[in-house]
Amino acid sequence: MGNDGGSIPDRRDLVRTKPKAEQADKNNQIIAQWFFCALSKRPLQEPIVSCGLGKLYNKDALLEHLLGKVVYGDAEQICGHIESIKDVKTLKFTRNPAKPIADPDPTRPNASFICPLTLKEMSGTHPFVYLASCGCVFSSAGLRALASPSASSDQPEQRLCPNCAKKYDKAAGDIRTINPAPEEQERMRAEMDARRAVASVKTKKKRKADTASTSAEAAESDAKKARSAANAPSANAPSSVVAVARSVTKSLEAEEKKRKEHMSAAVASLYKPKGQAARKETFTTMGTFTRYA
Ligand SMILES: [Zn+2]
Repeated sequence: MGNDGGSIPDRRDLVRTKPKAEQADKNNQIIAQWFFCALSKRPLQEPIVSCGLGKLYNKDALLEHLLGKVVYGDAEQICGHIESIKDVKTLKFTRNPAKPIADPDPTRPNASFICPLTLKEMSGTHPFVYLASCGCVFSSAGLRALASPSASSDQPEQRLCPNCAKKYDKAAGDIRTINPAPEEQERMRAEMDARRAVASVKTKKKRKADTASTSAEAAESDAKKARSAANAPSANAPSSVVAVARSVTKSLEAEEKKRKEHMSAAVASLYKPKGQAARKETFTTMGTFTRYA
């Protein structure tokens, strides 16, 4: 190089400048995100799951983590938002026919999967999304082209998955970007938190309904017993027996009424506003709280 009359090296040829290093970093990051499990850092292998933030994981690694079998050092940072396997969706990919299934070199950026609509390779170059309802994976552009407003004018937000025809709701955040940019990831995190808040309210409501229905069932069965007690002897029995049966029925009814009153007061106390409920706390319950997630 230089002094041979052919070329004169300048600073650009001799010093590794920052932009190039940054570029290399970015490439490594893309490969890490799109070809390796975010948790175990092993090459991605089906079944692959994704969370509300669009990160890709090997399902077995995530299960090992959730069961506490394997401790990954940065798990809290990577997937602290995943509390159970219900928080992730198993993805349905379309295999890239240009790549053999058993690739000897998984580090080579040769995409295993493609978009079934546009046939673009999923290699980190094009944005990809998955549907939270069914887990099918498409390129963002392909899905957008199909889901243009003219395609279904009656229900613009409720559409069918082009791969498996399952319904998905764009308004409910069913379209999730895979490996989103940091700003979009923040938006997805906010959406995920909102969905969780809604789900926890629903769980509370369901529990309330369950409590109500059990007490109603119990009351009904008690009433049935009372009725059969009253009816059985009246068929062909002396009047004194009938009178006894009646008094038993009455006492049962009184008991039932008392029990109901007690029950409703207990249930009502559960749903009192915080300020009014003078709940007695012992040292075992003080400072603890219940999570509905
Ligand atoms: Zn689908």
